[in-house]
Amino acid sequence: MQDLDILIVGAGVAGLTCSSLLLQHGIKPTVIEREEEKHFNKSGYMLGLLPLGGRVLNAMDARDAFFANSVQMEQYEIHKETGELVKGYPLDFINKQFGSYRGISRTSLIDILLAKSKQDTIRYGTTVKNMEQQTNGVDVTFSDGRSQHFDVVIIADGIHSETRKQILEDDEFAYKDTGWGGWVTWLDIDPIASYKEYWGAGSFLGLYPVEDKIGVFLGGPVDEIKKKGLTSFISEVKSNIADDFSMPNQALDSFNSKKDPFFWEFHDCRSQTWHKQNVVLLGDAATGFLPTAGVGASMAMDSAAALVDELTRMDKNHIPYGLTLFSKRQKKRVEKAQKDSRELGKMMFVDSSIISGVRNKLLPFYSLQQMLSDLTDVMEGE
Ligand SMILES: Cc1cc2nc3c(=O)[nH]c(=O)nc-3n(C[C@H](O)[C@H](O)[C@H](O)COP(=O)(O)OP(=O)(O)OC[C@H]3O[C@@H](n4cnc5c(N)ncnc54)[C@H](O)[C@@H]3O)c2cc1C
Repeated sequence: MQDLDILIVGAGVAGLTCSSLLLQHGIKPTVIEREEEKHFNKSGYMLGLLPLGGRVLNAMDARDAFFANSVQMEQYEIHKETGELVKGYPLDFINKQFGSYRGISRTSLIDILLAKSKQDTIRYGTTVKNMEQQTNGVDVTFSDGRSQHFDVVIIADGIHSETRKQILEDDEFAYKDTGWGGWVTWLDIDPIASYKEYWGAGSFLGLYPVEDKIGVFLGGPVDEIKKKGLTSFISEVKSNIADDFSMPNQALDSFNSKKDPFFWEFHDCRSQTWHKQNVVLLGDAATGFLPTAGVGASMAMDSAAALVDELTRMDKNHIPYGLTLFSKRQKKRVEKAQKDSRELGKMMFVDSSIISGVRNKLLPFYSLQQMLSDLTDVMEGE
């Protein structure tokens, strides 16, 4: 395995996890990244990392750095749009049974992964221009004009993967759009140990703590909220919140000081097939997630670990077989987690106030384990 020439496309969560784990096995992959180095990992957002991801950091001996740069989540709270609590779900069943469920900024996570994956091996500002599958590997031409032969190409360039289009036909992957989306920003106050969400009719406000601040998301049906604009949408959401609930008000105010906050459209993506010959998809490029269950990064890391495990058993003459085994091992598992995030999306993204009222009455009868039953199965190894 150590003489495999591996190309990883994309230095994101999946790509860097993969390169760190490969380095542990004595193999130095080539990693390319579209962003120029001076812009790389300069801005980011909040991530909730389940033990599915945290356990992979244990494997790369990065647990101390991870814990020092993140905060354990103890509770998940769903509130009405007025601010009133509908139900608080303790996260004990995750923290005690599976491992620490932690909030971390994407910037910190990428820094931890970079430190473990020998930053000098990354070729920034580079993409794949062309790939030709040969019987013994893949001939790759890069955007800088260079060409190189690889035994394996790992496509890990995210949910909007451009490189995926070079191996899959148009009908071999599909995006699923919720019609919802929204703005993301930071609230600079000390983090709390709870995720807080405010589910309204046509609005959604989420507060997601990381190591030193709180990530804020404000969303709704894309067409409507874009027409209204951020400022008037904030006023509308604020008008529903009772004055005694200071945190959602503070979170909404945090948008005032930020120019052009990142707008995130909520769609996910599923690729029918995860590999062709010696080229394999990984992370969001294989199966991308809605934010609802907060699981995309964790599954990307879980899949990267499974892929490296299979790569360590491969020889140059049987790479497609090894990639088939990886796909069989991981694809159903990832799609199962994706199913939960889709179901949660149906509950969260509701336009009608009647349906929202019924939902709020029913929510207290559900446990988190019931709402995340497929994801719980995945964490239990099913
Ligand atoms: C606002 C927000 C909040 C989120 N919250 C959570 C959460 O709480 N929990 C969770 O688990 N997940 C969350 N996610 C999802 C999570 O970030 C993704 O699932 C995860 O990053 C997927 O990892 P990846 O490596 O596949 O893709 P990415 O991390 O997106 O990495 C892709 C990399 O490829 C690079 N790239 C793109 N195109 C090319 C190209 N053509 N050539 C070379 N390089 C390229 C990109 O610059 C990037 O560095 C969130 C996402 C967003 C946007």
